[in-house]
Amino acid sequence: SDSPDQLRKAIRDVPDFPKPGILFKDITPVLADPKLMQAAIDGMIAPFAGQQIDKVVGIDARGFIFGAMIAQKLGAGFIPVRKKGKLPWKTHGVDYSLEYGTNSVEIHQDALAPGDRVLLADDLLATGGTAGAALKLILDSGATLLGSTFFIELGFLEGRGKLPGGGPVHSLISF
Ligand code: IMP
Repeated sequence: SDSPDQLRKAIRDVPDFPKPGILFKDITPVLADPKLMQAAIDGMIAPFAGQQIDKVVGIDARGFIFGAMIAQKLGAGFIPVRKKGKLPWKTHGVDYSLEYGTNSVEIHQDALAPGDRVLLADDLLATGGTAGAALKLILDSGATLLGSTFFIELGFLEGRGKLPGGGPVHSLISF
């Protein structure tokens, strides 16, 4: 199939966003095209075909789009991981380090339970800090982590090395 190629072409490079020196991968042209989006979702779940998946965890904010569509397609529940202070009920949180400073993400305390079979989804794997933090929240819940799936991986940043104990890591498009 040529859809990985079409998907790759649809991803727009935006120089110096959100800061000088960053080349941002803009996925909004993919979101705007239902055929491309369907190919993206199908490609992201293909490696996990045949596995029972109870919950899909998606990361604030573009991970909500991919994660929720994957969850619907699999007949699984969707669980949001959000930046600190955004979830309304009781949360578990984890801090992770950025190039400069730290960030925190949270999950609802009752979102996952031991025995749940969980897939993590996000739009893009860069340094792995964000996904690593989300994986820690999943593992701490006692749920069974099946792996992670990303639409894009910036391979040169070697983020997958920061996802220890995270199960298989799949990305559809690599730069
Ligand atoms: P990491 O923590 O360095 O792996 O960054 C990954 C997170 O930052 C993901 O949640 C992405 O949504 C976001 N991100 C980083 N770089 C980009 C980009 O070029 N395009 C879209 N999102 C990005």
